[in-house]
Amino acid sequence: MAIIAIHGGAGGDGPWKGLTDLDPQRLECLRNVLQTVGSALESGDINALEASRIAVSMMEDEELYNAGKGSVIAADGSVTMDASIMRGCDGAAGSIVNSRRLKNPINAAEKILQKGWPVMLNSEPADSWAIENGCKEVKNSDLITNLRKAQWQKWKTANARPGSTDEDDNAALDHDLDIEEDKQTGTVGAVVLDNEGRLAAATSTGGMTGKPDGRIGDTPIIGAGTWADQSVAVSCTGVGEAFIRVCAAHEVANRYKNYFPTEKYPLEKAGIDVLELVKPLNGRGGLIAVSRDGELILPFQTTLMYRGYWKSGKIECGIGPDYIEC
Ligand code: ASP
Repeated sequence: MAIIAIHGGAGGDGPWKGLTDLDPQRLECLRNVLQTVGSALESGDINALEASRIAVSMMEDEELYNAGKGSVIAADGSVTMDASIMRGCDGAAGSIVNSRRLKNPINAAEKILQKGWPVMLNSEPADSWAIENGCKEVKNSDLITNLRKAQWQKWKTANARPGSTDEDDNAALDHDLDIEEDKQTGTVGAVVLDNEGRLAAATSTGGMTGKPDGRIGDTPIIGAGTWADQSVAVSCTGVGEAFIRVCAAHEVANRYKNYFPTEKYPLEKAGIDVLELVKPLNGRGGLIAVSRDGELILPFQTTLMYRGYWKSGKIECGIGPDYIEC
């Protein structure tokens, strides 16, 4: 049985207001990723790790998502991107932090995984290493879109707080900073189970609008934003500081496998319970997870989470509470 689930970020506090003008393009990207990667996965042309990398790189290439081109803009007006990937069968992992010059940070994370050591590379040395090893280079200014400039301007004018660790403060997710013409969109991720029972997870992001120089969210941290082992694969999205503090992705796996050794702890319960742990830390968001047994969950606590899955040829996508024709 092969399964792939993807997300394009979570956000929003109020009631779901329906699709925006740009949502059809985002849905088309979700559908295209699920169709392309799902079929290749089913035919055995690609394994779980390759599927997760390809899915995330396709979403990085869609500039309406907050990863690769179209990433949100940091306080200093530039784009810095984080990504990570993990293979369940042997726990191999790769992560890139504060990349500024890569078209597809997830490709660099996967090259780090393949190299085997170290697991994480940071900022300029990471970009140089990735480019020397065949990753495509772009100028930082080429990663910036007009939509993100408008969102950044709105953040600056409103003096909104970026991702904050202050419990009394409300951290601003990119989906929260609505500008007239659009609901801004988020971080991207994929979890995959292939025909051989192998699992993988991958996540990529531009982080949070107005983030301070040097800030690292949960996305590149193995165990916080991304986790895969032999039982389950998890990718998270939301206020990264809270997801880091509860080791969210690993905690889903931990509960699923270990909490009640004599009793089954359903994946659904593990996912929802971890989001409940994140909530008191101002950590709104969501996650996707798939187990080796084929359980699949896509819970979120925000108004919306761009999401979809492919399972045995069936595709479903959603943004607000309900799944919609995709
Ligand atoms: N988790 C990401 C971060 O904190 C942001 C998001 O998922 O929207 O960098």
